[in-house]
Amino acid sequence: MTKHIDNKIFKASWTYDEAPEGTDHIQIKKQYDLYIDGRFVNPVKGIYFDTINPSNNEKIASVAESSFEDVDKAVKAARKAFKSWSGLTGKERGKYIFRIARLIQECAREFAVIESLDGGKPIRESRDIDIPLAANHFFYYAGWADKLMYAFPTRDPKPIGVVGQIIPWNFPLLMAAWKLAPALATGNTIVLKPAETTPLTALKLAEIIQDSGLPKGVVNIVTGAGETGAEIVNHPDIDKIAFTGSTGVGKYIQKAIAGTRKKLSLELGGKGANIIFEDAAIDQAVEGIINAIFFNQGHVCCAGSRLFIQESVAELVIEKLKDRMNTLIIGDPLDKNTDIGAINSIKQLKTIENYIKIGVNEGGEIYQPECNLPKKGNWCAPTLFINVSQSHRIVQEEIFGPVLAIQTFRTIEEVIDKANNTPYGLSAGVWTQKGSKIFHLTQKLNAGVIWANTFNKFDAASPFGGYKESGFGREGGLHGLKPYLKF
Ligand code: NDP
Repeated sequence: MTKHIDNKIFKASWTYDEAPEGTDHIQIKKQYDLYIDGRFVNPVKGIYFDTINPSNNEKIASVAESSFEDVDKAVKAARKAFKSWSGLTGKERGKYIFRIARLIQECAREFAVIESLDGGKPIRESRDIDIPLAANHFFYYAGWADKLMYAFPTRDPKPIGVVGQIIPWNFPLLMAAWKLAPALATGNTIVLKPAETTPLTALKLAEIIQDSGLPKGVVNIVTGAGETGAEIVNHPDIDKIAFTGSTGVGKYIQKAIAGTRKKLSLELGGKGANIIFEDAAIDQAVEGIINAIFFNQGHVCCAGSRLFIQESVAELVIEKLKDRMNTLIIGDPLDKNTDIGAINSIKQLKTIENYIKIGVNEGGEIYQPECNLPKKGNWCAPTLFINVSQSHRIVQEEIFGPVLAIQTFRTIEEVIDKANNTPYGLSAGVWTQKGSKIFHLTQKLNAGVIWANTFNKFDAASPFGGYKESGFGREGGLHGLKPYLKF
């Protein structure tokens, strides 16, 4: 329904024509093998699984499932390549990484479409955010490859060795870039596993890596489910695990490698606080709230999923927010107008729907705009809850979907206490016109990343990572080199 605020009508009265991105320029194979030792090889056991398009639940391709034998072959190839790769000068290593960055740019359109097909995210996001940021990450770390002695003067940094990297499904290519680029720049060799539901852009990246002429065995990409990840974690010849995923699996990995020589960095879940003060630019803040929670269907570890609004402006902000939610376009990820795409998998949709039920059963007041969700595929309307408190499960637990829990506050001390009252410590946002307030809060909030008057902005030069149950280690910036070096 159209609402009136300050005599303005926020609900758009125009309609959009369809604007689908073309798919004729992309090449998707029927079947994907494993990328080991510079070649695509069949899995030893010959087992393949389907990767599914979440916007219609139709099969896109068959993907090889790695067993222990495949992981072992990949680790052996990485071990063999380590000596010569780590022995190259930084300048030589940098050349390969620059080449990969440029090849990603050349294939950007193809990557964007495959990312949206395989993962469900709007093409606007994969085209304008995921893929450019992934290329940027390679460019950035290519620049560091020959400057490690300046990054860590007098410390003589050395690569760690063979690194096992395990990534989730929410930013498939970007997470691969976050993992691969710093590890390569520092002279490590790699066995990487993408998530089971989104392997295609990592496999496309493997094709690019092959085209780049990167020496064989330096990067190996093995696909499979959690069991394949566990084979990497438990392999005796891996020197370090870099993991991004849920806190539950992160804890399992920490236990699994306890007492071994393996190093570990963990980028885990979050429940970010987004704090709106009464002196904030309210319309900008409303846009920021939308971006904080509905970007990538809310499948974002640093999403601003807990909103705190100062009491004096709460009613106005919530009304404007509901109006803005009415204008969001939910549907075909390949349509350039789409704001919210498909939920990544049926399993994740069930998790989100269950949390929405929990929110209602615990007494939260739910709001969802009227929207015609497509009949086929996995869809969830953008959702907000008011009348919730710190003890509600939807306030405490990570939902990883487009669901926002809203609370109000009166004083700065109150909102700091509430924002920090979570097992996580990954991200936060502060909206105010007062620089002093921003600096006060950034010192008091326990979060690895804090945005001021914006949200969900990423840059290769800026470190990212968490505190508490959100993990440890940083990705991005000079800090992102450290987890891949020994001194
Ligand atoms: P999971 O932890 O379930 O999976 C992450 C990766 O680990 C996947 O590749 C998965 O394989 C693999 N895996 C699953 N079980 C094991 C195991 N026992 N041993 C080794 N590897 C395993 O997370 P999701 O894929 O569900 O991703 C969502 C989570 O990731 C959220 O909690 C989110 O907050 C977090 N995340 C954190 C980020 C950060 O930077 N802090 C960034 C992005 C996401 P498969 O998928 O094939 O089963």
